[in-house]
Amino acid sequence: MSSRTIALVAHDHKKAELLEWVKQHIDTLRPFRIVATGTTGALIHDNTGLEVHRFKSGPLGGDQQIGALIADGNLDGLFFFWDPLNPAPHDPDVKALLRLCSVWNVPVACSPATADLIVTSPLFSDPSHLRKVPNYGK
Ligand code: PGA
Repeated sequence: MSSRTIALVAHDHKKAELLEWVKQHIDTLRPFRIVATGTTGALIHDNTGLEVHRFKSGPLGGDQQIGALIADGNLDGLFFFWDPLNPAPHDPDVKALLRLCSVWNVPVACSPATADLIVTSPLFSDPSHLRKVPNYGK
């Protein structure tokens, strides 16, 4: 089992799309430790059998919990199918999560097209590949 961790998050209108995407790439995803926001995690686990560590539901702080993983250097990729057509009560958290991915150079996919490109990259499945972590030291 790889110690590399990926996070899965989907807004309600995007959950079916994410589930379909996970099923399509399940063998590639299986070696990773998978974390997710609460409802997304339950959906993925119940429909694929994958082990998923579930944080709180997104609107209740789950996005921020994933953000904390990023800030601590413990997340290697985010698959975040957010909904561009419906307002979310936790929009500031959504923005914050995407912002932290840029701050810490964490690969992030917001659509199946980008997610496909990431998981089919040889670098994704290479445990020796280390992304460059920015140094914000004084
Ligand atoms: P959920 O949260 O998986 O608990 O639905 C996702 C989100 O809305 O950020």
